[in-house]
Amino acid sequence: MHEMSVALEIGSIVARELAKRPGCRLTGLGVVVGAFSGVQIDTLEFCLEVVMAERYDGVVCEVKPEPGTAQCLQCGRRFQVSRAPFECPTCGMPALGVDGGDSLQVSYLEVE
Ligand SMILES: [Zn+2]
Repeated sequence: MHEMSVALEIGSIVARELAKRPGCRLTGLGVVVGAFSGVQIDTLEFCLEVVMAERYDGVVCEVKPEPGTAQCLQCGRRFQVSRAPFECPTCGMPALGVDGGDSLQVSYLEVE
């Protein structure tokens, strides 16, 4: 499962960050995943909770989608999209391609 390898990768990022803060206990974790990264948000959240529960107690994991940006060919308006089709909210024309929305990053760590 793709999401599980992503969750394990996030787990090692978290472990590196925590190593810089001795004595801190991890309580929460936020991850932002691009809407077009190919990662299933729900599945990743589940996998992260499994990975975190193996290493830490009671960590709350939150995974949020990050939309991409498309630009209308007709009127030039830029707008956020999180799924196809990419139609301009102003004129309804299809937009060409999408920028962004393919990232994956740890947005925050909560420690105490
Ligand atoms: Zn338009």
